[in-house]
Amino acid sequence: MERGELSLSRQSEERVAEESLRPKTLDEMIGQERLRENLHVFVRAARERGEPLDHVLFHGPPGLGKTSLARIVAAELGAQFRATSGPAIERPGDLAALLSNLEAGDVLFIDEIHRLSPSVEEILYPAMEDFQLDLLIGEGPTARSIRLDLPRFTLVGATTRAGLLTSPLRDRFGWSARLEYYPVEELERIVIRSGRLLGLAIDGKAAFEIARRARGTPRIANRLLRRVRDFAAVRDGATGGIGLDVARFALGRLDVDDAGFDGLDRSFLHCLVVKFGGGPVGLETLAAAVGEDKGTLEDVVEPYLIHCGFLSRTPRGRVATPHAYAHLGVPSPGV
Ligand code: ADP
Repeated sequence: MERGELSLSRQSEERVAEESLRPKTLDEMIGQERLRENLHVFVRAARERGEPLDHVLFHGPPGLGKTSLARIVAAELGAQFRATSGPAIERPGDLAALLSNLEAGDVLFIDEIHRLSPSVEEILYPAMEDFQLDLLIGEGPTARSIRLDLPRFTLVGATTRAGLLTSPLRDRFGWSARLEYYPVEELERIVIRSGRLLGLAIDGKAAFEIARRARGTPRIANRLLRRVRDFAAVRDGATGGIGLDVARFALGRLDVDDAGFDGLDRSFLHCLVVKFGGGPVGLETLAAAVGEDKGTLEDVVEPYLIHCGFLSRTPRGRVATPHAYAHLGVPSPGV
C-alpha cells in the first residue's frame, strides 16, 4: 500500500515539476527550428484571417515536446485549451459530449490519438471535416440520426506511432509534423534554462554532461537534472552548486551509462547481441527475453537505438550494428 502511495505522490510530483518547466511560447521553446518556424507562419496566417488553425498532428517519441507544442498553439492563438487522450475517450458519447461543449476557436488536444476506438473515430471524421456531429437518438427501429453544427475548433493530435493512425484520420489533419531527437547543444540549453527556473547554480560542464546523457529527450534531461540536484543537495549541502563531479556521480548512481543508455536500453542490446547473436530476431521474441512490453520497446527503446545507429529494423527482424557490439565490448562477427 505504501509503495503505491509513494509512487503516486512521486508521479504527481514529477507532473508538477514538468508543468513548471514547460515552455509557454514558441520563442521560449528550444530547438525543432523548422517545425517552430512553420507553426509560427500557420498560426499567424490563421490569426490574420480570423479563422481557427487547421487541424495539426504532432508525432515522435515521448518527451520531445508534443504536449508542450499543443499548449503553445492554444496560447499563441489566444484560444482555450482542452486536453484529453485516446484511451480516456471510451465511447462515442464521451467524444460527442466533449465536442458539443467546445467554443469557437478552442484547441482540443487528443494525446495518444492512435488509441481511439474505431467507433469513436467515426464521430471524429465529420467533426474535423465539416464541424458537424452525427448523433443517434433512440434505439431499435425508432432510432434516428440528427446532425448538429459544432463551433469551428482546432484539433491537435499527438502520437508516438504515426504508423498506427488510420488513413482517414491521418488525411483529415491539415498539417502533420514530426518531432526529432534533440542534439546535445540544444539539450544543454534546455538544462540551463530549467536550472535557471529551478533556481540552481549549475556550471556549463555539468549541464553538458546531463545533456549528453539524456537520450536526445528534453523530458529525460529535466528529470536527470532534478535527480542530480537531489544528489548535490544531500552530498554537498543545499547551498552547493552543481558541478561536473556531482553530475557524473549522480548519473552513475542513476545507472545512466556514458552513451546515455539506461538499464532497459542495455538489456535490450545485450539480449540482441549476446543471446540472439546480433539478430535478425523478431520483436516479440526480444520482448519476451527482455521481459518488457512490446509497445514500450517499439515506442521508447528502439527509436533511440536506431537514431544512434545501434540497431536496424529489417524485414526479417531486428539486427545489431557494429556500434552495438563495440558498445558492449563484444567482437563484431564481421571483424
Ligand atoms: P511529449 O508530449 O512529446 O511527451 P512534453 O511536451 O510533455 O512531451 O515535454 C516533456 C517536458 O520536456 C516538458 O515538461 C518540457 O519541460 C520539456 N520540453 C520539451 N520540449 C522542450 C523544448 N523544446 N524546450 C524546452 N523544454 C522542453
